[in-house]
Amino acid sequence: MSIEYPISEIFESIQFEGENAGRFCLFVRFTGCNLNCLWCDTPQRNTEKMRLQPHELARRIAMTQAETCILTGGEPTIHNLSALIDALIVERVNKTIDIESNGTDLTQLCALVDRDDTPFCICPTISPKPPMPPPHEALWPGAILKLVYNLEPDMTWLRPWLEFGSSMFGTETYLQPQWTEDEAFRRIQSRKILELCQQYPSVRFSIQGHKFYGLE
Ligand code: SF4
Repeated sequence: MSIEYPISEIFESIQFEGENAGRFCLFVRFTGCNLNCLWCDTPQRNTEKMRLQPHELARRIAMTQAETCILTGGEPTIHNLSALIDALIVERVNKTIDIESNGTDLTQLCALVDRDDTPFCICPTISPKPPMPPPHEALWPGAILKLVYNLEPDMTWLRPWLEFGSSMFGTETYLQPQWTEDEAFRRIQSRKILELCQQYPSVRFSIQGHKFYGLE
């Protein structure tokens, strides 16, 4: 059966979050998500604007000058991403492939990271959502965690993830406040995140800078 990916949008912009902050990237937003977070800020996850087969999407990715392609959503891992990686190899695409995932399908992500047939790096960023607990074992060398500090943070959920990220050698953990237009509330959030960074010094403060500067 041929695969077609439902896509909400494909665009170039600056990534402001996590380890790629400041980097010019191509974003591919897949439609659909297996979660329904109350504070989700990605309504585009429900909008399907096109359907592309793996080779069609690989050719679109090949066209960008960006060195990094970010597969995002929605939740990209509800789709078979291995077929896209196969197509990227055939199309001789040599870009870093970052996958922004809520981490509910770690089996697929681990299999993608473990592939040794790609000339490019596959680097998932895991952004878990409550109440998902951290795994019992380390993820993979260089694993990236992005934890969102909500307007009303559930510390019983967040703290185990902060401890997990801090204790796993090679894991980079970013703590990112949920966006709000309320400047006074942003100051409260930043002080709370500073306190958490004091308690977990390897954790880094990440911001959604594109919202401040009106980028996608
Ligand atoms: S996992 Fe992400 S895209 Fe899916 S509902 Fe939650 S916040 Fe939205």
